[in-house]
Amino acid sequence: MLKNIVNGFKGIVEVASANINPYNVQVIKLEDYRSIFRLSGDGHALAQFKIYSEKLNPIASASSSIYQEDILKKVCDCIQQHQTWTPAHVAAFVGLYECFKQPEFVRSVTVLAQYDKAGVINWLNNKGQTALYLACEKNESDAVEALLKAKADPNVTACGRYPIHIAVKTENMKFKDQAHALDEKNRGTPVHWARNKEMIELLYRMGSNLNLQSKTGHTPLHIMLEKSRRDCTMELLCFGADSCISDYDGNTPLHHAVMKDNVEMTRVFVVFGADVDMLNNKGQSARHIASTTKSKNGKKILFILHVSGAKRCELSAKGCCKGCMTEGTWNGTDDPAMNTVLETDKDGKS
Ligand SMILES: [Zn+2]
Repeated sequence: MLKNIVNGFKGIVEVASANINPYNVQVIKLEDYRSIFRLSGDGHALAQFKIYSEKLNPIASASSSIYQEDILKKVCDCIQQHQTWTPAHVAAFVGLYECFKQPEFVRSVTVLAQYDKAGVINWLNNKGQTALYLACEKNESDAVEALLKAKADPNVTACGRYPIHIAVKTENMKFKDQAHALDEKNRGTPVHWARNKEMIELLYRMGSNLNLQSKTGHTPLHIMLEKSRRDCTMELLCFGADSCISDYDGNTPLHHAVMKDNVEMTRVFVVFGADVDMLNNKGQSARHIASTTKSKNGKKILFILHVSGAKRCELSAKGCCKGCMTEGTWNGTDDPAMNTVLETDKDGKS
């Protein structure tokens, strides 16, 4: 439908309009174009035409969405209201993310950025996001590189997160100096946002703090456990993440592993030296939780904690069961995997 209007910008004054059906295209005259954009005269129409054509051409060649009337209207309104904006920013603002996939468009970002005297490359859309943020969100590697090369600033944001947080999430990290950036909502580091072990390693080598607590008191270990990112948890521990840091309820990652009935993670944390006797704000140890909670793996978890030296509860503790009470003798049921770990440990020491 409006394809020919857009194509019309490529050099002819006579533009085309049509109904919604793209196969039903008819050529229209300048005055129709003028009326589409509610312009007052031919001179004005031609001046606007020139402004639009410079911005629309790169966008039109990178996104077919522009042929939808409402999108074209948004693009044109945006161009008219922000005449200094680059096509990159217009595309980002309107949400034509597919533009960032086109090498041609990426090249135009670079070229236009050289003339970006007003610094619009760092301007924010109505969600507080820069073009760089959007390119990260869409995981458009080439566009991110082009924008960075064009001096897009990774420190500009008004949406609570920096591009690095999104880049970590989409596993496309190009920000070498943002290792400590905190997101606004949870005050999480990039490590909290990591989704695979390679990213954990990269962030570690960039100097990110692996133990920093978020606003909710959670360390990356808490988060990886919560999200069941086993490889990330292991990687964090291998790089020395501290498993004895409690969240604001006093729960260590070990407490959480036990509460989640996660045998493997309980085993992992004790093997990596977690303090098995730490108490949460309710005065509960991991052993007390394992002993008093009815869960599928509770008995096995109790065994793992017991052979790792977890003490029984004090006499004053409330709600204890036979697995944790002072005078109890029940220590859970055998966990062959834990026995193997203990055997290996013994062999290593002898
Ligand atoms: Zn107890």
